[in-house]
Amino acid sequence: MAPSDQPAPTTPAPPATTAAVTKRSTAVRARALTKTYGRGEATVRALDAVDVDFEAGAFTAIMGPSGSGKSTLMHLLAGLDAATSGSAYLGGTEVTRLTDKELTLLRRERVGFVFQSFNLLPMFTAEQNITLPVELANGTVDRAWLEILVDTLGLGQRLTHRPSELSGGQQQRVAIARALITKPEVVFADEPTGNLDSRSGAEVLSFLRRSVRELGRTIVMVTHDPSAAAYADRVVLLADGRVAGDIQDPTPEAALAGLDALRSLDDAAVVAR
Ligand code: ADP
Repeated sequence: MAPSDQPAPTTPAPPATTAAVTKRSTAVRARALTKTYGRGEATVRALDAVDVDFEAGAFTAIMGPSGSGKSTLMHLLAGLDAATSGSAYLGGTEVTRLTDKELTLLRRERVGFVFQSFNLLPMFTAEQNITLPVELANGTVDRAWLEILVDTLGLGQRLTHRPSELSGGQQQRVAIARALITKPEVVFADEPTGNLDSRSGAEVLSFLRRSVRELGRTIVMVTHDPSAAAYADRVVLLADGRVAGDIQDPTPEAALAGLDALRSLDDAAVVAR
């Protein structure tokens, strides 16, 4: 066969680089998630058919006025409370279908929590508090990861101190390290700066953001404070138990404007009633 008769070499197809490949996966999802309290006339719809996705590797704030359903949403997503209807998912797991025993395991192994009150054990040192979730699960502490967390959170000099010897901001940073030590799929933070002065609060928020940007963690934070929400990559706004807005890369001004818009909607609703 003459060379010219040879079939042209086939060019391999270029690798698929579609948006589907580069898009981050969803860590947490709600579908028609609903929670009501009470019955009949006294029914309160704390959460009203909420559909929302939280990306893996992102820092998302849930913001809204008091009573808008922020805590309820977080509690249902984390399996701390049962939904009235609808579904919540963590990765591929439908949290709303799990038994109590499965929920306990899910919360221990796949979710981290940071609360407004730091909830550290007073008789333990900072390091013992951080590694407690691993000890409770009979695991082995990943020392390299512990070191990274301690470095990122600026806790190096404080590991042998007990909580009473630490400032509020330092205690909350210990609580963040404790939430991250098991490398959970998501950390839920409920008003994490609520008990802190503005300077310590800003520090804690910067550390939360670093855990996402530098350590690749996923954080969903509930807050009513626009300046706290502005540390996040995205703000999901809630009003009356529904998603009422979504702000990407929020500035404090944008977060405040979003919250103000919800408040004026509320005021208009009161006038209309
Ligand atoms: P937020 O966290 O935004 O302040 P919540 O999720 O705590 O809002 O509350 C949403 C609504 O559900 C509010 O009207 C609140 O009064 C009501 N609610 C929350 N928990 C309960 C409960 N245990 N019993 C009755 N009503 C509740």
